Amino acid sequence: MTNGTMLQAFSWYLPADSQHWNRLRDAAPTFAHEGITAVWMPPAYKGEGGANDDGYGVYDTYDLGEFDQKGSIPTKYGTKDEYVAAVAAIRGQGMQVLADIVLNHRMGADATEEVHATEVDQANREETTSGDETIQAWTKFTFPGRAGAYDDFCWDWTCFHGTDWDETTHRKSVWLFDGKHWDEDVTHKENGNFDYLMGADVDLMYDHVYDELLRWGKWYLDLTGVDGFRLDALKHMERNFYLRWLSDLRQATGRELYTVGEYWSGDLSDLQGYLGDERAMSLFDVPLHYRLFSASNSMGNQDLAHIFDGTLVGSDPTHAVTFVDNHDTQPNQALASTVETWFKPSAYALILLREAGYPCVFYGDLYGMPNDGGIPAVAELPLLMEVRRRFAYGEQHDYLDDADLIGWTREGVGEHEGSGCAVILSDRGEGDKTMYVGTSHAGETWTCVLGDEASVTIGDDGNACFDAGAGRVSVYLPQASASALERDPIVRHGQPQASEQTDKG
Ligand code: CA
Repeated sequence: MTNGTMLQAFSWYLPADSQHWNRLRDAAPTFAHEGITAVWMPPAYKGEGGANDDGYGVYDTYDLGEFDQKGSIPTKYGTKDEYVAAVAAIRGQGMQVLADIVLNHRMGADATEEVHATEVDQANREETTSGDETIQAWTKFTFPGRAGAYDDFCWDWTCFHGTDWDETTHRKSVWLFDGKHWDEDVTHKENGNFDYLMGADVDLMYDHVYDELLRWGKWYLDLTGVDGFRLDALKHMERNFYLRWLSDLRQATGRELYTVGEYWSGDLSDLQGYLGDERAMSLFDVPLHYRLFSASNSMGNQDLAHIFDGTLVGSDPTHAVTFVDNHDTQPNQALASTVETWFKPSAYALILLREAGYPCVFYGDLYGMPNDGGIPAVAELPLLMEVRRRFAYGEQHDYLDDADLIGWTREGVGEHEGSGCAVILSDRGEGDKTMYVGTSHAGETWTCVLGDEASVTIGDDGNACFDAGAGRVSVYLPQASASALERDPIVRHGQPQASEQTDKG
């Protein structure tokens, strides 16, 4: 088995040039070479912002850049044909494609409707603050630009729980529609009941809507050939919806449909509660992200010995997708919590070189975020990915025994030539640690490939004393493997370019 690595193949401020599908298509061979096994692509359907919408402002899930709607045929990322071609190119390189699925809300309706509704307290949506009112709600979706192609379902207010805008009074608040109630199995820790997030909140368990979303799911899988999903905004959605939707789609297609969900909470018990007994999907390890963020901001005061305490990867590694940053944690986003640059190599070592968890590398870290305050690419990341792909195998020995200096080793396995590695990480001063790498390595010289610590010789007992530099991660490999890395230089490149630029000049 080769180690798996997921790639989140976008960041928040990509240029709105409708070329991203082409960029990903062209980069597919490079991703495969780097050891990527699954590519999470951003939402592919038309949002209310047309060619400028990142895809989360969902307007029409049947318009993957094919119909003249919201001022544009292509989406921010390209056309339907380009999307399908990019999916095929990525899958053709032996990688999975995970589609980003956003079903919590709809935005940019085609018309308003008169709806009876009650206003609720924004800070506690279980409390009504008005009697029965009549508002003009943007809830009528008829998709005139698509004219019934693929599916003629039209949405009206009965498909939604509520909304945040009254067109009559031009007032923003939160209204619950007459006869509707917020979904129960959502998070109640924020806003009393956090079913309502934005736009027109979809009533997911209304039969009419459920049937439509299932029909759409089958259509999408059939058209695009994607292998699975990344699910958006889970804490705002009735838990039973995806349990049923995934199960129905898996049954209908006979496919595994690997799925990872975004349940944004730093509290492990929330994630465990959502996964429940069914374990129908994996979840992003948000608690670990916050540990890494905090370590990067604590001036060495984060207790590294317990960095995995209270994380999903520490308690349920087979359902944990570990990550350092994502599009939501970038600066200026609502969940902004960007891991500081100095700690990024350490953070990536913690998710890439250990046994537990399915790590997800962020496009913004791989390529940098030039449109987002000029955050640089993590220069060490390609090397760490290469070490993961080729050498981070075998039994793991942990030395998570010091608040400022931790380490671990992998013994290596016969199946991966030259495998085995030792990692030592400090968030304060320099130091050293005696660690066991296996007696099969006795007498070998191990060389530091990240950091500039001196080489060490493995003793007859399989131990060696590894040096750590101050405030950084050091990675050691058997000499022959370190030389192999030098012989096979790691492909690195700037922002990928699409080969067929649309010439608007
Ligand atoms: Ca909701």
